[in-house]
Amino acid sequence: MKIGLYGGTFDPVHCGHLIIAQYVRDELSLEKIFFIPTANPPHKQSETPARLRFEMLKLAVADNPYFEVSDFEMNSAGVSYTVDTVAGFKKKFNLTREELFLIIGSDNFVDFANWREPKKIAQQCQIVVFPRAAGDWEATPAQFREQAIYLQSAPRLEISSTQIRAFIKQGKAIRYLVPPAVKRFIESQKLYC
Ligand code: ATP
Repeated sequence: MKIGLYGGTFDPVHCGHLIIAQYVRDELSLEKIFFIPTANPPHKQSETPARLRFEMLKLAVADNPYFEVSDFEMNSAGVSYTVDTVAGFKKKFNLTREELFLIIGSDNFVDFANWREPKKIAQQCQIVVFPRAAGDWEATPAQFREQAIYLQSAPRLEISSTQIRAFIKQGKAIRYLVPPAVKRFIESQKLYC
């Protein structure tokens, strides 16, 4: 059983997230990738209630048998730390280190040394990094790079949730940036206006 964990704010989930998750799933032959929306991100304040971000993720992955959405961090009281999420999944699915994959963009991995218990995270699972901005990977401490799987040829998509929220405020189209069902949900809930 090979499982991937893909955490984020997902405010909203966009096609960049989905394309990279599918690429990682195929490259590593994962049985499942769990998208884990964070409730109270340690480094980032989200504008949108976790319940709505969760709903959008559900709509986005509905037709993909490899993708699932987890409310793991939404249910934990207070701030969620990756080290606890990894331990929780490892226990729940009875996984070895070789069976659990933490999927991280290079823009986040560059800061990995400052996460809570980074060494413990690396001991508990395999870390999969895909490139975002140029130079991130090289700037990451060698001790962490050596332990990670770097998917250098992964597709790079310059889409961000920040940009999507800005587009909506500016009245610009978000068609093709998010799945149609997510676009409909954003419109019906009048999000990011
Ligand atoms: P924001 O713009 O609000 O900071 P974001 O689009 O970067 O959001 P997050 O929810 O913060 O999305 O990111 C969750 C994970 O998805 C992170 O590991 C991040 O590196 C990754 N990610 C974000 N955008 C993309 C993209 N365009 N392609 C691939 N991965 C992405």
